[in-house]
Amino acid sequence: MKHTIDNTVTVDNCIFCKIIKGEIPATLLYQDGDFAIIKDLHPRAPLHYLAIPKSHFVTMEDADYYQSQIVGRMLKKISTIKEQLDLVDYRLIVNQGKGAGQSVWHYHVHILGGKQFGDF
Ligand code: AMP
Ligand code: ZN
Repeated sequence: MKHTIDNTVTVDNCIFCKIIKGEIPATLLYQDGDFAIIKDLHPRAPLHYLAIPKSHFVTMEDADYYQSQIVGRMLKKISTIKEQLDLVDYRLIVNQGKGAGQSVWHYHVHILGGKQFGDF
């Protein structure tokens, strides 16, 4: 079964595509050709970042092989620059679909840190 998503969001009106293109301001902490790491506008932890692939897809089900490889590289990069991001232990979250809390229809990984997390 497909995720419940907002189908009116396209690559042309996607907020994260606009951030990637520099059309909407964001605090950029890292970028390379394939992805960016920015500060979340409404942090839910002392440190709350978003890792965002530059090419637009909504959930992992929609990712092609190349895009799925970018996500793997993105997770590895988070681990190698964690000091730069002030992270020690951290939690990664991906909301996939409305029922899971996804509100921006461009795949992203939440990076949460700076506190002791409870059991999940
Ligand atoms: P999700 O609910 O998993 O789709 O996460 C979307 C996240 O994007 C939320 O944590 C928002 O606070 C964050 N967000 C929305 N708009 C912006 C923005 N312009 N800059 C940075 N973060 C944003
Ligand atoms: Zn997008």
